[in-house]
Amino acid sequence: MRVLNWLGNTQAEPTSGLWMDDLNPATSQVIAQIPRSDANDVQAAVDSAREGARIWGSTPAQVRADTLRRIADGIDMELNDLARLESTDQGKPVSLARAIDIPRASANMRFFASALEQEVHQSSKHVSARGAALNYTSRKPIGVVGLITPWNLPLYLLTWKVGPALAMGNAIVAKPSELTPLTADALGRICKESGLPAGVFNLVHGLGPEVGQAIVEHPEIKAISFTGGTATGRRVAATAAPMFKKLNLELGCKNATLVFEDADLDEAVAGAVMAGFSNQGEICLCGSRLLVQAGIYEDFVQRYVERVAALRVGDPASPDTQVGALNSLAHRDKVEGYLRLAVEEGGQILCGGKRPDLPAPFDRGAFLQPAVIADLPIGCRTATEEIFGPVVTVHPFSDEEQALEMANGTQYGLSASVWTQDLKRAHRVSEALDVGMVWVNTWLLRDLRVPFGGVKNSGVGREGGAWSMRFYSEDKNVCVLL
Ligand code: NAP
Repeated sequence: MRVLNWLGNTQAEPTSGLWMDDLNPATSQVIAQIPRSDANDVQAAVDSAREGARIWGSTPAQVRADTLRRIADGIDMELNDLARLESTDQGKPVSLARAIDIPRASANMRFFASALEQEVHQSSKHVSARGAALNYTSRKPIGVVGLITPWNLPLYLLTWKVGPALAMGNAIVAKPSELTPLTADALGRICKESGLPAGVFNLVHGLGPEVGQAIVEHPEIKAISFTGGTATGRRVAATAAPMFKKLNLELGCKNATLVFEDADLDEAVAGAVMAGFSNQGEICLCGSRLLVQAGIYEDFVQRYVERVAALRVGDPASPDTQVGALNSLAHRDKVEGYLRLAVEEGGQILCGGKRPDLPAPFDRGAFLQPAVIADLPIGCRTATEEIFGPVVTVHPFSDEEQALEMANGTQYGLSASVWTQDLKRAHRVSEALDVGMVWVNTWLLRDLRVPFGGVKNSGVGREGGAWSMRFYSEDKNVCVLL
């Protein structure tokens, strides 16, 4: 299978004539070939998007909203196929893709269709304080926007940007990770079948330093929404900032799960397992540092490790599988490097961390048993650097003050979850955590209206609801003398 670029509603081969293999990380088999595009293909996408932006920017809001809903319907109609494609490309259990990734992709489109119809973000009018003039402020599309996304939640995160960008009347030049291009390609087809005008959705496959960099550098692309690692985000910011582009950066993480002595332990154990290992620990919101109050530490860790060791690792297509393959063999090498480092740093691996014994063809896949590591100093590299895999470090704390010091002690600040039945403590700790998002007695319970994003090296700006609508538009104020 050869995947092509989408230039508006037509498909195009890369001008370089070069192709790359796309692998199934569960078997290491080649499942597709994708274009190794370059700056010429990005230029072709911008040429297409320029015309798309002109048409789409002046399309009535209701027509745009209806089109977004048809795209959502198209995604829903292909739920099973898209889930299979996402699982094969990414390594995640197909059950997870069917339950979370794909339904969330259509929900993203529907949510921003409704947000657009509400018009609360569209315009506002008021008579000036002096009473002699009328001011009105309207929202204008930016024009052509660049969307760059990672491999962990491919369609989920792409549509989280495509939805509001289209709702606000922009044309898109998108680049998915070259490791997970398949559902982005399917989205291009669904957009076309849903009646999105030519030129509005453009997708260029290829490598980050070649295609991603060309998108960020292109002078006609006025806004960049990027989700990925902190090091790449720094590079994107360094390129885009001097060009005065609008920038939204959703970056790396090392989130803490804080469990206090008064927590409901059954719920906390179950929640911490989910937070640690959903999607093989490859979600930016995963809780990879588990901080447990000393009085319950031993009991909690014992129960936690039992649950983690029982997670079923294997064929992502099997409905019983809870942990699929990591996204690539190279990524597994990186995670295994951290497991070796953990031992050097004094850590004790309480469970997992080994390659499971799986039958062919999965013996060639990027599988790893979920690992829990204890006895590490909280400031060591394993406990502070992003691993982004099925690895959780556990640490005891004595009191609230120490828990906060430990939780806040990294360069990252994306999210945290707090487990306690003390209402005042829940508020106090949430307030003091240096992160963009806190869950109390739950994890990853999402409401698309609320701000999503991090502080410190986890990013700049917010996505979600009004924040996304604002990012993908420019306010214009008109003052009329009465
Ligand atoms: P990555 O290596 O930073 O890549 C992200 C995207 O940027 C990919 O499409 C990549 O293309 C592209 N890219 C690479 N170099 C570029 C450049 N110079 N200019 C423009 N684009 C470039 O991240 P990843 O390994 O795919 O994803 C994992 C990271 O994403 C983790 O750090 C995770 O925490 C983070 N993440 C954050 C959030 C959040 O909301 N905060 C959500 C999900 C993931 P290639 O794939 O071709 O290199």
